[in-house]
Amino acid sequence: MYFIDEKYIETLLQDDKLHDEQFQLDAISKASEAKGLTLEESAALLNIDSPEVLNELFITAKKVKEIIYGNRLVLFAPLYFTNHCVNNCLYCAFRKDNHDLKRKTLSLDEIEEEARILVHQGQKRILLVAGEHPKISTVDFIGKAIERIYKIDFNGNNIRRLNVNVAPLNLEDFKKLKSYGIGTYQCFQETYHYETYKKMHIEGPKTDFEWRLFAMDRAIQSGIDDVGIGSLFGLTDYKFETLGLLSHAFYLETKFGTGPHTISVPRLEPALNAPAAMNPPYLVNDISFKKIIAVIRLAVPYTGIILSTRESAELRSDLFSVGVSQISAGSRTAPGSYKETRDSSDEHTHEQFQLGDHRSLDEVVRDCTALGYMPSFCTACYRSNRTGDRFMELAKSANIGKICVPNAMATFKEYLNDFASSETKDIAYEFFEKEINRLEGNIRNKAGQMIERVDNGERDVYL
Ligand code: SF4
Repeated sequence: MYFIDEKYIETLLQDDKLHDEQFQLDAISKASEAKGLTLEESAALLNIDSPEVLNELFITAKKVKEIIYGNRLVLFAPLYFTNHCVNNCLYCAFRKDNHDLKRKTLSLDEIEEEARILVHQGQKRILLVAGEHPKISTVDFIGKAIERIYKIDFNGNNIRRLNVNVAPLNLEDFKKLKSYGIGTYQCFQETYHYETYKKMHIEGPKTDFEWRLFAMDRAIQSGIDDVGIGSLFGLTDYKFETLGLLSHAFYLETKFGTGPHTISVPRLEPALNAPAAMNPPYLVNDISFKKIIAVIRLAVPYTGIILSTRESAELRSDLFSVGVSQISAGSRTAPGSYKETRDSSDEHTHEQFQLGDHRSLDEVVRDCTALGYMPSFCTACYRSNRTGDRFMELAKSANIGKICVPNAMATFKEYLNDFASSETKDIAYEFFEKEINRLEGNIRNKAGQMIERVDNGERDVYL
């Protein structure tokens, strides 16, 4: 089906050669060069059973992540502005036939209020999310919301990158979306398995597999350089799904010269009155999920991997080590729930799915530093026109660290000075000193100068 060759993927999954440990070890050693993998090699790594080879996979994924992204973790928060939707996806609480969901659409003032709360928490990146509705989540309304959010300023702190996860648009509307200054356009195929897709999407515009599959082509053709793809793990066999995702990434790289900016790996979670979410047809256990992330890290080393708060705090901490580079923190998936704190039972009647990690942004920042990860709120590349293939070129050169390290540190210092709790400061300042002392030469000088500017009150300091 188009660039998703189901027959070929099935052949790979049945190929005995790809269960051979030596073949798997050879693929891992090739992957350690951070140059990526073929679909066949990725399939072999998804077949790993032996604990020793699996451990080799995880060690190599950690090494490759550190080569490109160091110990940095980029933080963001989602902002849902409507849970009205005309589709009927069997795994989602927002689906139109879920009459127990309390529907809510935020006004522009309410969206601004939600975003202001996130700015006051120290967030610098927002992912704007909405159900699909021809009268509500229109590109013009999204444009007005983006404009309002970018205008918010709190002592030099503001939202500096706004990514958008909304239904596929036509070329003209993507051009409009681009003109509003979005960062990444995200759209998940949910599943690349055609028959499963048909089964899960029973009504509404989202029944059109092809329209969704080529959304990224239209987005890139409209001038949106950074696109984000994803699959909802648990709808079909995870090995097939991972190879579908990678096929999409390879296709974009071949056709447009640059692969996806990010890949998201949401796993099915319980959701109100969502039959497929309550009884996942292909539940993915934690060790297989960790394997998926490690294989994606090795197959497409330069692509950001996004992990949401669907997963528990404990599991997230473990998955950071095998390739995750971006995480949401302090998230809410119900419109208006940054302002309106509801008890969990009431929240459940508004939210898209159940969260696994309920920590605040400050708690996540604290726990990350305690684990040795550098929280980053950096948005420099997108604002320095280092997007699409220009970002990929930088990521592929060893120079990315020279820009990312000082930028991450400047944004982290800004967070520590303006937003961190005393408990977080106690842990983070010590970690920060250690990180500075690890730097040498130019990077150290550059980072030192930028941190001094932040300490002297300047905000939004970046390279
Ligand atoms: S997954 Fe998206 S399109 Fe489907 S019902 Fe939920 S909000 Fe609507």
